[in-house]
Amino acid sequence: MAAKKKTDDLMDKIVSLCKRRGYVFPSSEIYGGLGSCWDYGPLGAELKRNLKNFWWNAMTNRRDDVEGLDAAILMHPQVWHTSGHVAEFSDPMVDCKKCKARFRADKLEEARCPLKPSKSPLECDGELTEARQFNLMFKTFMGPVEDNSNVVFIRPETAQGIYVNFLNVKNSSRQKIPFGIAQIGKAFRNEITPGNFIFRTREFEQMEMQFFIHPSEDEKWFEHWREQRWNWYMELGINPEKLRWHEHGPDELAHYAKAAYDVEYEYPFGWQELEGIHNRTDFDLSRHMEATKKDLRYFDERFTEKFIPYIIETSAGCDRTLLTILVDGYDEVEVKGEKRVFLRISPKVAPIKAAIFPLVKKDGMPEYAQKVYAELKKSFKVFYDVAGAVGRRYARMDEAGCPYCITVDGQTLEDDTMTVRDRDTMEQTRMKTAEIVNFLKEKVG
Ligand code: ATP
Repeated sequence: MAAKKKTDDLMDKIVSLCKRRGYVFPSSEIYGGLGSCWDYGPLGAELKRNLKNFWWNAMTNRRDDVEGLDAAILMHPQVWHTSGHVAEFSDPMVDCKKCKARFRADKLEEARCPLKPSKSPLECDGELTEARQFNLMFKTFMGPVEDNSNVVFIRPETAQGIYVNFLNVKNSSRQKIPFGIAQIGKAFRNEITPGNFIFRTREFEQMEMQFFIHPSEDEKWFEHWREQRWNWYMELGINPEKLRWHEHGPDELAHYAKAAYDVEYEYPFGWQELEGIHNRTDFDLSRHMEATKKDLRYFDERFTEKFIPYIIETSAGCDRTLLTILVDGYDEVEVKGEKRVFLRISPKVAPIKAAIFPLVKKDGMPEYAQKVYAELKKSFKVFYDVAGAVGRRYARMDEAGCPYCITVDGQTLEDDTMTVRDRDTMEQTRMKTAEIVNFLKEKVG
């Protein structure tokens, strides 16, 4: 029970910090909120944008063999029949006969009883029904007539948009196999038991990449992508002790997959999947080829044969990674007898890169600081703050996750130097004003 309390405390602190500082708000809050839907506030929107750019740069811009894509959320309904989602994209569901609440049968330990939130449905005295399958896809109607022939699905994953564009991307980019297609976009799942803040929601964003290869090279590329994705989390500054691989055993492996590993993170509520890396074989393209009669095979000069490409998939949740950054970065430290919160987010994705302070509101310091602020604003998201004692200003920025605070003081006006304070070491380094842009570029680039 004590461990559970600690977990709740940390998540509660993060949820409240997110609200207070403008990272994440409950959706439609003035109407009482909407279950499991969250809105990203000014700092959250900035962090999410930086995170997506960080992924996009690593996956596409820094490589010659991955192209980007931004496919529509609504797709031909037949896509979801072909992919197997209509028949199989379901979770087992049970109902509590007493309170009528509905839970995911394979996640009962994580679920909370609505009548006794301190207990899981397994611990309370209500009787659970037998498990039934529940399809997770949201449906809507396309066009002005609401009948069965107009049903469309709201995509539950971004990957299908990549498979159906394989030929278009290959032909327009003139890529040769092996090559990949990367996409970031919203996905929707009518999850039975969403929860744990932004960890499991019904609307979320995925960052997915599908890499098309010759079947004989699958193991090599699988290892390559595992290594790349692990290194990406290291570059993002996530604590490696809180990350681990989970290999899917024979009972977990999807019927079409040859191998699957999840990157897991140790959240306050336990080890959970953050990203999946899968060897999907030729399952996806074979299915789409069969359904559309379009030839999705590839002629490879190296092997002088035509074949259906195998696919190595890397599929990460954007919101889940953002939660990981917040959980991993949250730190409480006693400074001069006062408990202070630090959000140790990597400068590469931090929403505000630097804050500029005049030490005092006089002697030309605000004017000098304003000039520096105007200059830095051209390249970075920066913040100007003159209100209150400098110690309080530092504390506000530490809690907001800002990695650097730049202060204009008396000496600045004499020799054009300023102090740059590092959030994590709290060290202050004096630097030439002219060097600051380069310093920040190096740190946040
Ligand atoms: P889970 O077992 O947690 O339901 P999954 O195995 O169904 O996840 P995938 O279909 O492999 O997940 O999706 C890839 C990634 O998308 C996941 O690793 C996760 O980061 C993210 N994701 C999936 N479902 C959700 C959700 N409901 N809310 C937020 N992120 C999600």
